[in-house]
Amino acid sequence: AGAASLALTLTACGQSGEGGSKEDKGSSKGGTIGIAMPTKSSERWIADGNNVVKNLQAKGYKTKLVYGEDDPDQQVSQIENLITQGVKALIVAAIDNKSLNNVLQQAADADIPVIAYDRLILGSKNVDYYASFDNSKVGELQGNYILQKLGLADGSKKGPFNIELFAGSNDDNNTKYFFGGAMKVLQPYIDKKQLVVRSGQTALNQVTTLRWDGATAQKRMDDILTKSYSSKKVDAVLSPYDGISIGILSALKSDDYGSKSKPLPVLTGQDAELASVKSIIAGEQTQTVYKDTRELAKIASTMVDSVLKGKKPETNDTKTYDNGAKVVPAYLLQPVSVDKSNYQSVLVDGGYYTADQLK
Ligand code: BGC
Repeated sequence: AGAASLALTLTACGQSGEGGSKEDKGSSKGGTIGIAMPTKSSERWIADGNNVVKNLQAKGYKTKLVYGEDDPDQQVSQIENLITQGVKALIVAAIDNKSLNNVLQQAADADIPVIAYDRLILGSKNVDYYASFDNSKVGELQGNYILQKLGLADGSKKGPFNIELFAGSNDDNNTKYFFGGAMKVLQPYIDKKQLVVRSGQTALNQVTTLRWDGATAQKRMDDILTKSYSSKKVDAVLSPYDGISIGILSALKSDDYGSKSKPLPVLTGQDAELASVKSIIAGEQTQTVYKDTRELAKIASTMVDSVLKGKKPETNDTKTYDNGAKVVPAYLLQPVSVDKSNYQSVLVDGGYYTADQLK
């Protein structure tokens, strides 16, 4: 996104565009909280970072917000720096879920509690709490949307329809939940041959997209269209994230999809990023899964505040998220499916975007 549209997005996500890697003001009475986010290449993480800062400052904390540019090593050294600087707690959205064990041990040795933000950190007992969304539900919403749009859900159509599957980054713990949730609803239709994956690529390790990169997805979609669809049309594409959907859409358009004789397939997404919401309004991407980052930021900030005050944070899931070293107590928010029919009520009336931004 260009600087102008990004600034607009930030304002509309209920915050100023301020924040950054420097130390922000705020009373010092609660100490400084370190916030490590994965990347600025996607709007949602910018919104998350700024919303966490705002919430913590309102509770009397100072904040240090850093972004790891999708580089796991850089994220490790950023967290080491935060520990050295004496932060009182850490909020971490991991880039690579397995690369943080050593640095989290350093945090534990310095008595710094750690909240895993959105993405669970694996293999370490030094993760105190997890704030996220119901990640399986995200995938179920995407899968069910496809079934509904194709007319398979209510049996009004029988198919067979052609579908292709995309998943997120293999080093992100959420990926298997998103894909698992979607496949739970799609697999029975694949088994009945009402859905056909012409590429044959149905296993998670065949369909992941390293670092959620749109260009990588575009290339894979290009290849699939060339190899498996020379005389056929694709009717639906499961995409886990808006940035990936935009890449898939480019590949489809280069292959003449979107013209009169070749309608675009049903195409899902996630995050309700501005470009994708506009694409949905324009009738290109079909759906996205909205996750209110304002709410997630609030949950994570409240968790930190409770832990530092010696109270037990509120959780609503203490079974699902086993990270290999412990089951991490979690608070999970509900994701919401958004398409052309409800973006106005959910995103505009809900104050996430202004109507002007979506023009
Ligand atoms: C988040 C998604 C996001 C993806 C790519 C995942 O961990 O849960 O909301 O689309 O990362 O940034």
